[in-house]
Amino acid sequence: MAKIFCVANQKGGVGKTTTAVNLAAGLARLEQRVLLVDLDPQGNATMGAGINKATLTASVYEVLLGLSDVAGARQRSDAGGFDVLPANRELAGAEVEMVELDNREKRLKDALAVVDAEYDFVLIDCPPALSMLTLNGLCAAHGVVIPMQCEYYALEGLSDLVNTIKKVHAKLNPDLKIIGLLRVMFDPRMTLSQQVSAQLEQHFGDKVFKTLIPRNVRLAEAPSYGVPGVTFDPSSKGAQAYIAFGEEMVERIKTM
Ligand code: ADP
Ligand code: MG
Repeated sequence: MAKIFCVANQKGGVGKTTTAVNLAAGLARLEQRVLLVDLDPQGNATMGAGINKATLTASVYEVLLGLSDVAGARQRSDAGGFDVLPANRELAGAEVEMVELDNREKRLKDALAVVDAEYDFVLIDCPPALSMLTLNGLCAAHGVVIPMQCEYYALEGLSDLVNTIKKVHAKLNPDLKIIGLLRVMFDPRMTLSQQVSAQLEQHFGDKVFKTLIPRNVRLAEAPSYGVPGVTFDPSSKGAQAYIAFGEEMVERIKTM
């Protein structure tokens, strides 16, 4: 049975997509069978995995609306060594179109159940909002990975996300838990980064992943080549950190 994780944070630009794509590639290097689900109409995870969002015949949009199954819409990322359930702008319409459907927050969960046995990990890259799309991700998942930058306002947004996760846990998905907080774009030279990082460890203890993802330009460059950073420059500090994070995730699910 696959372990299913959302990469979520309602803020944009905090490193969700970079984390989803590079964790997928890191896990693939560890011989894990991975499906990356792009749940953001921006389609950045799709492009970052080397799949052209402009020429999709089917996507997660069709899957959510019941017009395709996962097997009919997924594609292989040769660059990453994992499968991708891709997305493009069409997905923005799903939010409204799903309103009329039954069980609308569990559409993704039901679709993934069919391919569950084919994967060790399913990673869901969520959009920057606590929307019906994110809700579908949270209802499908066993856990949430929350990437965050160690800056002052990061903590402020966190409580909304934690409250949403608590509500989903109570009402819709009793399996759901926070797997951990991942410190990303970390700059050890900044005092504020150190302080916020220490605060996170104090409040969240074991829930803070040991792996720290540094700010690294190779990770930012890789998407323009349609290749995960882990594949683009495996020896770079950013790639090494995401490979270590993959190892930490493999360890962590053993205790789940
Ligand atoms: P989100 O999906 O939360 O909107 P992204 O993963 O797209 O965030 O990241 C936002 C921007 O920051 C992108 O341009 C990405 O390349 C860059 N970025 C993300 N993580 C890193 C990192 N560790 N080092 C350098 N740049 C990063
Ligand atoms: Mg994103």
